[in-house]
Amino acid sequence: MWEMLKVYNTLSRSKEEFQPLNENEVRMYVCGPTVYDYPHIGNARSFAAFDTIRRYLEFRGFHVFYVTNFTDIDDKMITRANEQGIEVQELAEKFIAEYLQIADELNLKPASVNPRATEHMDDIIDMVQSIMDRGVGYAANGDVYFDISEWENYGVLSKIDPDELAAGARVETGEKKEDPRDFVLWKEKKPGEPSWDSPWGKGRPGWHAECSVMGSYYLGVPFDIHGGGQDLIFPHHENEIAQSAAAYGVETPVKYWLHNGFLTINEDKMSKSEGNFFTAREVLDNYDNQGVRFFLVSGHYRQPLDYNNQALKQATQSVERIRNAVDAIRGRISILTKKKVQPTEADDNIAEAIELLKTEFEKEMDDDFNTPGAIAAVFSFIRTLNANLEETGKAAVLREALAVLSTRLEILGIDISRKELTGSSELRSIVEKSIELLLEIREKAREEKDYETGDMIRNRLTEMGVSITDTKDGPTWKIEA
Ligand code: AMP
Ligand code: ZN
Repeated sequence: MWEMLKVYNTLSRSKEEFQPLNENEVRMYVCGPTVYDYPHIGNARSFAAFDTIRRYLEFRGFHVFYVTNFTDIDDKMITRANEQGIEVQELAEKFIAEYLQIADELNLKPASVNPRATEHMDDIIDMVQSIMDRGVGYAANGDVYFDISEWENYGVLSKIDPDELAAGARVETGEKKEDPRDFVLWKEKKPGEPSWDSPWGKGRPGWHAECSVMGSYYLGVPFDIHGGGQDLIFPHHENEIAQSAAAYGVETPVKYWLHNGFLTINEDKMSKSEGNFFTAREVLDNYDNQGVRFFLVSGHYRQPLDYNNQALKQATQSVERIRNAVDAIRGRISILTKKKVQPTEADDNIAEAIELLKTEFEKEMDDDFNTPGAIAAVFSFIRTLNANLEETGKAAVLREALAVLSTRLEILGIDISRKELTGSSELRSIVEKSIELLLEIREKAREEKDYETGDMIRNRLTEMGVSITDTKDGPTWKIEA
């Protein structure tokens, strides 16, 4: 029976039992990229963290409706498009395509929907109007602002005291706010900027308004989970709560707020503005994709994770150890299907380790998605497996081991599917049988002490990309990636 799943809710600053609003369904929104540039590997950490959370919820039996947006209109988009002398939309298309490519290489499951802010202008205008109708928004010469002095609950998420906020704040030149703490819902068009018609004149939405609208449009209010990096707690998510609560007349628009920690370099947050970043593209080009994904989930999602070559190399080696173990299981299964071997204590040891992997992995993930603990359970399983594999006699136990292990790796987003032969099934069967035949000839040669022929077969197969491993019950082979 399932134990309780606990998630850390930024709203209560504590781990809470996870109970979605509708029994088997989880409605989840994660702040997506602003598509003005290549995402850096810090952004990728956020995407991978929430992808893992989503995968675990699905494993837990929930039907997850997963929305992650593209911010395709904001100040950064406009500035960059102007610098490059292109339309904002062209810039957006380019980096949306780039994001989707990276998402694929990082094994992010496609979202249920990837809405774009510019597709929701009417909905955004409606929300801003509702806020004004509630008396918590005001228009000021083409801009519209949220009136914080009219909103009692401001600070629920970030625990910021609005009175203290007032002390340090001042109205910047060009802003038309009545109170420096107020935030913009709609911005008047400036010369040369893209704009949309609204009751307040031509303009465009504020960033916070975009996410409130896209979340509620696809998921309704309230919904279950809202995610993003810790830098978004204030002001982005605080403002989203105020807007959605005011516009849609609910007390709490989102039940659980989850925030990932930063990817750091020398303990500083990786960020575009600081210039201390590596793009996800260059990292994926320099390291094995599965290794990059492993690195991103190797720390707990709320803790900082430091980026350095050593960590990436270690992650790649860890994936290699996993692949080797998986290949060894497959090789042993193929031996056991050809040759009768008596069941032994080794089979019981592995059967026991399978049960332990199941319970430990779930126990760790139930504890606020503790991926480092879950990974430790995977490696403890692999150690037992490696120690027992050569003595095993039951293919069925090994098939189960493979299934249970790969399901857990999938939750972490690690893909260990084997490089397979391609072509028609007849062709594949002939190739497989020919390799088997060569191995038989090699065995025969070795029995006759004709090591020269034996080595020749092995070397030539290796050159073709077929690697051979000798075990005490015979050789196994695989196609190298
Ligand atoms: P942006 O494209 O800047 O809107 O960011 C997309 C997502 O990446 C947001 O959820 C950010 O909070 C998150 N993010 C940005 N920098 C980092 C970082 N260094 N580490 C982890 N997450 C980050
Ligand atoms: Zn957002």
